[in-house]
Amino acid sequence: MSHLPSGPERRRLGLDTSITRRDFVNGVLIGAGVAMLDASSSHAAAPLSEPATSLPAAGEDSFTGYGGVGDYARANGNTWPVVQAAHRLRDGQYDSAALAKAKAAGHFDLVVVGGGIAGLAAAYYFIKATGVGRRVLLLENHAMLGGEARQNEFLVEGERLLGPQGSNDFIVPEPGSGSLLDRFFADFSLPREYAWQSWDSKLRPLRFARDNYSNMDGFQEAQVDVGYFFGAAAWRKNIWANALAETPFSASARRDLLKWRANHAPIGEAESRHLDTLTYKDYLEKVCAYDPAVTRMVEPIVGLLSGVSTDAACARLGRQLVEAPDRPKAVSFPGGNAPFPRALLRGVSPESLPGEDFSTLMYGPVNFPALDRDGQTVRVRLDATALRVEHVRVERRDALAITYEKGGSLFKVGARAVVMASGGWINKHILADMPPALQAAYDQFSYAPALIVNVALRQWRFVYDLGVTACRWFDEDDGIGYCCNIRQNMVTAGHAPVLHPDRPAVLSFYMGLPIPGLPAAVQGATSRARFLATPYMDFEVRIRRQMMSLFGRHGFKPERDIAAIVLNRWGHARLIEPPGFHYGVDGRPSPLERVREGYGRVAIGHSELNGAQHWGSALEYGQRAGQKAAAMV
Ligand SMILES: Cc1cc2nc3c(=O)[nH]c(=O)nc-3n(C[C@H](O)[C@H](O)[C@H](O)COP(=O)(O)OP(=O)(O)OC[C@H]3O[C@@H](n4cnc5c(N)ncnc54)[C@H](O)[C@@H]3O)c2cc1C
Repeated sequence: MSHLPSGPERRRLGLDTSITRRDFVNGVLIGAGVAMLDASSSHAAAPLSEPATSLPAAGEDSFTGYGGVGDYARANGNTWPVVQAAHRLRDGQYDSAALAKAKAAGHFDLVVVGGGIAGLAAAYYFIKATGVGRRVLLLENHAMLGGEARQNEFLVEGERLLGPQGSNDFIVPEPGSGSLLDRFFADFSLPREYAWQSWDSKLRPLRFARDNYSNMDGFQEAQVDVGYFFGAAAWRKNIWANALAETPFSASARRDLLKWRANHAPIGEAESRHLDTLTYKDYLEKVCAYDPAVTRMVEPIVGLLSGVSTDAACARLGRQLVEAPDRPKAVSFPGGNAPFPRALLRGVSPESLPGEDFSTLMYGPVNFPALDRDGQTVRVRLDATALRVEHVRVERRDALAITYEKGGSLFKVGARAVVMASGGWINKHILADMPPALQAAYDQFSYAPALIVNVALRQWRFVYDLGVTACRWFDEDDGIGYCCNIRQNMVTAGHAPVLHPDRPAVLSFYMGLPIPGLPAAVQGATSRARFLATPYMDFEVRIRRQMMSLFGRHGFKPERDIAAIVLNRWGHARLIEPPGFHYGVDGRPSPLERVREGYGRVAIGHSELNGAQHWGSALEYGQRAGQKAAAMV
């Protein structure tokens, strides 16, 4: 567990200094934080090393923490009210008697559950297929749209900074290729070439990632200056460039790490099917007979990208995700993939995101009152948790009744079709009349959490002085994460923060929370329980300690340099794909196939239906579900 500090360590970590984290509640969080520090043996410090069964008792502020500024400030990751409502649903607290009292709130052609890329895409392509005159209601349980593709915003020393909450990079689609992504870019006039922050030639030359992944896997080192921290004063830069010569790895570890890194031939269908039958660890250690150092090197990357450790994730994912050959240079918008759902919002409700240009698409404020006005084709209702969807007969026609909670009250609407663009973890509690085969398929789905931390810095000379822009570290006692980086951001009209070591910037930490040794589903559930039971303050302390460990000798002063810390917790970040999940086992089809079918007047569309999730699969499955729903009305 992480022991919360007192006395000298508190001062050393800068915990007594006022940072933006505390400003948002005008001192209330200072009180909460101190109370939690004092009460570290009770509810406050839910151990990270042991499973916890309940959420921290201290309430919303101690869980969600500071959310930044702007439209996303109340929606950093899964927030306390969202987690609470979802757990009430999971725990059966909305019984039939309570739901029967729900207030009638109208009738729609389509109700969409979920306001991520898939849900917004379903609404957009439904309207495209059916034309105007239809009525759509989209329910989203967070205070802001976008789902995993939301952004954090900071204001530091007058500079507006953005960072991704989760979904991060994309590959620019080939113009004219006719692919869904190409047509999406064309529909919304999204540019395919970008300008980037300039780097002063008087400063030492440094290479930056233009996203938060390119620095992670060693394969993109040609594009990024990565510092590898081997403890104490031992920093090594760009270790792959000189064949690991200056690293503390043993000779056999070096040899096998280099072999592993060179093993990136594309895999065909037959090999993909074979790799789906074994774990990545078995592939690395038994099939390839690599030194276990290879597994250790790759473990946190697989943990982030697949949700679980190499002994639980299938080898197909390991090969595809980690050893992707010649991955074209990925790029990211300043707020990650947030502009994609914003474009769809503009598509379904232009008044909600006024403007027509790319700059307002990225940075313009959302017109919240315009989201949910009577008479609109698409109404978007935020802070609304769908609780129950069931088929009913209305005037001798098949229809659906949808019950949801908003502001502590229950409402019921009717619809001719429903798109479930929320994930299976919640759908199986909402879909009251789903067929047993669908229930059985969903029972095979399991999920893992991920944590993305954005630290807004007033300056970052302590990284610059190391001659790097990204850092990677290895298992440390009480450490957190394994990598962080400062990006070179895209610049557009009206937004061009200066990239300079003495100016503010966002340092982003991406991490999965795998627990090697446990079966895949148990790993996800155990990790999520710990993760949700850990207060904001505990994570903040661990991040500060990690930064002190990395940069303390290089001029980092937490009280001076840290302006704000935002946690983005994703309880169900990844659908776990253990061996056999994707292609099925013993001739039985993958559960993915059954879920894709939906049932009755319910279409299911969520990026998880692709297995490996990405923004394109959210768009694709959202489109399919929207078009399927269009055929029902
Ligand atoms: C940490 C992380 C990093 C990622 N990085 C990348 C990347 O770099 N590139 C990439 O292409 N993809 C990335 N992805 C994947 C990709 O972004 C997601 O797969 C995609 O954005 C998911 O979109 P979605 O609409 O399918 O689901 P979601 O974004 O999960 O949206 C579903 C929405 O439904 C809401 N909801 C759930 N239950 C209810 C309910 N009962 N009532 C109302 N609303 C509800 C949820 O809160 C959510 O807002 C990343 C994902 C994560 C988690």
